[in-house]
Amino acid sequence: MTQARKIPFGKPWITEAERNAVLGVLAGDVLTHGPQAHEFEKEFAAALGNGHALTLSNGTAALHLAYWQLDIGAGDEVIVPAQTHVATVHAVEMVGARPVFVDCDRATGNMTPDAIEAAITPQTRAIGLVHFVGIPCDMPAIMTVASKRGLKVVEDCALALGTRWDGTHAGLFGDAGTFSFYPVKHITTGDGGMLVTRHEDLAKKISKARAFGIDRTFAERTVPGVYDVLSLGINYRLSDINSAIGREQLKRLDTILERRARNFSALKKGLAGLEHVAVLDVTAAGQTSSHYCLTAVFDGPLADKRTEIIRRLNAAGVGTSVYYPHPIPRLQYYREKYGADLARFPNAARISDQSIALPVGPHLEVDDMNYIANELTTIVRDLTCSKKN
Ligand SMILES: *Cc1c(COP(=O)(O)O)cnc(C)c1O
Repeated sequence: MTQARKIPFGKPWITEAERNAVLGVLAGDVLTHGPQAHEFEKEFAAALGNGHALTLSNGTAALHLAYWQLDIGAGDEVIVPAQTHVATVHAVEMVGARPVFVDCDRATGNMTPDAIEAAITPQTRAIGLVHFVGIPCDMPAIMTVASKRGLKVVEDCALALGTRWDGTHAGLFGDAGTFSFYPVKHITTGDGGMLVTRHEDLAKKISKARAFGIDRTFAERTVPGVYDVLSLGINYRLSDINSAIGREQLKRLDTILERRARNFSALKKGLAGLEHVAVLDVTAAGQTSSHYCLTAVFDGPLADKRTEIIRRLNAAGVGTSVYYPHPIPRLQYYREKYGADLARFPNAARISDQSIALPVGPHLEVDDMNYIANELTTIVRDLTCSKKN
């Protein structure tokens, strides 16, 4: 059978503008810690609407720096979602703190303020939350819990570029927000990341820590090569080559978000009548998703049919993914280290085991969404009918 279509799950949107921007940097003298990174930071903060932005080598580096520079470490507990990318939790481990896992809400995939509050102990120092596939966490309520208990808040916004709550961009509620520019994210620089914060002091601290703890930038050195080191640091910089790509990508952010929103709503509409298929989404007005993907969760007779559905969709040319394949406490490293009672994370397990991430990226048209909806409808009808026989 010939395949009707080829719909990749994700596809970096690289144009002539990105290629020219890279060539422009290569033609100059400054390949790193130059003007491109600086401009990218200013433009990124402007796109979010507030805060200080710092380019970093990737999203995981941004998370690591956030906990490290907020002085979270040994003996501290950090509340994290069971359902997330492993980097969210690895960053907590890297500073020697203990992750305390919390199950997610069934409708959004996010930690709720109540669940967070219930996990607080005298050792809790921070909340490390994730806006699940771009659906905003209830930040006003979470910040109320955090300030009542004097907790730091780190927002993992790797899939949340464009995510807002009552107009305020994700990453600007907590102490720090972290972004990723890995190829399948909203914008890409190859690899890359950004940390945003409303706090100038923290921004200054992180700016030093990302470049060896050196007391002055390249541009600030009056005698070339001469500097002092006041604190411990690492090299988590983003090069000017990567930054130049990011600046071009950022110019298309509004278009990217419009197309994602349009595709998401077309696909959601196309799946609306299907029994045993739930779609994760925002739950009230004022919440803006970045529409990273459409997460379809299967239950009833479809609960154990996820792999079969993926196979059939892939055979029809529809690319899919799974966000995420296991609740973090079920991954071997965390299972062996903490031995958490896995029954405590039923909603995380439901999303891990019974959901599929469907594509809504800017490389796709409404027509592609109708095709995906039709294919999935046929597959679901087939699987639910044969069950009855
Ligand atoms: C992609 C991702 C990361 C890691 O970002 P990198 O840039 O690949 O290091 C962290 N958290 C979440 C939620 C992600 O999706």
